[in-house]
Amino acid sequence: MTALNLPPAGRTRSAADEVTGLVSDLVRIDTTNTGDPATLTGERAAAEYVAERLAEAGYEPEYVESGGRGRGNVIVRLPGADPGRGALLVHGHLDVVPADASEWTVHPFSGEVRDGYVWGRGAIDMKHMVGMSLAVARQFKRDGTVPPRDIVFAFLADEEAGGFQGARWLVEHRRELFDGVTEAVSEVGGFSLTVRDGVRAYLVETAEKGIMWLRLKVRGTAGHGSMLHADNAVAKLAAAVARLDAHRFPIVLTGPVREFLQGVGELTGVPFDEDDPEAAVARLGSLARMIGATLRDTANVTMFNAGYKTNVVPSLAEATVDGRMLPGREEAFERTLAEVLGPDVEREWDSLPPVETTFDGHLVDAMAAAISAEDPGARVLPYMVSAGTDAKSFQRLGIRHFGFAPLRLPPDLDFTALFHGVDERVPVDGLQFGTRVLTRLLLNS
Ligand SMILES: [Zn+2]
Repeated sequence: MTALNLPPAGRTRSAADEVTGLVSDLVRIDTTNTGDPATLTGERAAAEYVAERLAEAGYEPEYVESGGRGRGNVIVRLPGADPGRGALLVHGHLDVVPADASEWTVHPFSGEVRDGYVWGRGAIDMKHMVGMSLAVARQFKRDGTVPPRDIVFAFLADEEAGGFQGARWLVEHRRELFDGVTEAVSEVGGFSLTVRDGVRAYLVETAEKGIMWLRLKVRGTAGHGSMLHADNAVAKLAAAVARLDAHRFPIVLTGPVREFLQGVGELTGVPFDEDDPEAAVARLGSLARMIGATLRDTANVTMFNAGYKTNVVPSLAEATVDGRMLPGREEAFERTLAEVLGPDVEREWDSLPPVETTFDGHLVDAMAAAISAEDPGARVLPYMVSAGTDAKSFQRLGIRHFGFAPLRLPPDLDFTALFHGVDERVPVDGLQFGTRVLTRLLLNS
């Protein structure tokens, strides 16, 4: 792998200087993860790129293939001053979701730097954080920095398909790599929300919803499409998913969502009314799309498949549902699905639990201090993310998770639309800001 953006020999650059080049290089390596291992191409190349950049700085990185061939992961440990303290894990995933180049302004795997942004698939999910962590890890090694406690840097495969062949595999088969780790920092958080002119909050993820990916089946009687038919599998499943789509799960105000909306209320001067959280969410602009989904469970039908000919009533209809439940709602969620879908619908599912920790402790204080040093007057607030991350796997080792990939964003950027969206891009000055914040955090962690 040719590195196109490295400093000339004999000259070192700071982490913030080199981060843009690193992110751009990483975006250029197409690591599309469709969920089908047969279509994988670049995870290994990306892992090798990361390992080479770490080795160049003086590390001896460990390359580990998780699951099948080519599922590359890279792990290094930087020893800290106090081995008695729990280690901090800084992790990021190398894979990305697919992108259709015909829809994009620039090619999604160009890594082009244009108009102050690095463009491409993965720019904010999450090669920006991979690049920032890599830049800081390299600088610490070059400078001989000894952080307060051990830092484990991990660059991982397969997050976009649930991490079963990445973080989850490592937790099950190579857990010694994470010995002594008590806390972790990764996606999705650390980005700024401009709540009013010049007033910014930085959102730290302290919780994420659980996942239940369901396959639904309805069986009926096959027959000729021209005749009377009372037992049509397609019609029954269509009616069941329509009931599910119309169902409104109850609003449940959880700790992190309440604390977030209260904090925004204090910053905007519009007090948070606990009896009407939807009104508070509606005032958040484009972020309402994600925060709104943390007020309640959701279940969206995502695939529907049945039949093979116009004049044949098939005996089987199938659908998939992407279900997401709030912490503490796993049983209630499952019960509700059974009730709403009804007894004719067979259900099978894969599930991953919700994640939750408290917004307190030394690491949280260090995040707040790092943000205020770089953006005086800004405030950090906890929040819940509606999606799932590799935190679900590391939670199995009892590791506390914080979504903190620091990024200062322009006030008008529709940030949440960029996740898995078209024209995904990250501001260069935001990346440099984030690298400085991450450096401060890791120096004081
Ligand atoms: Zn991600």
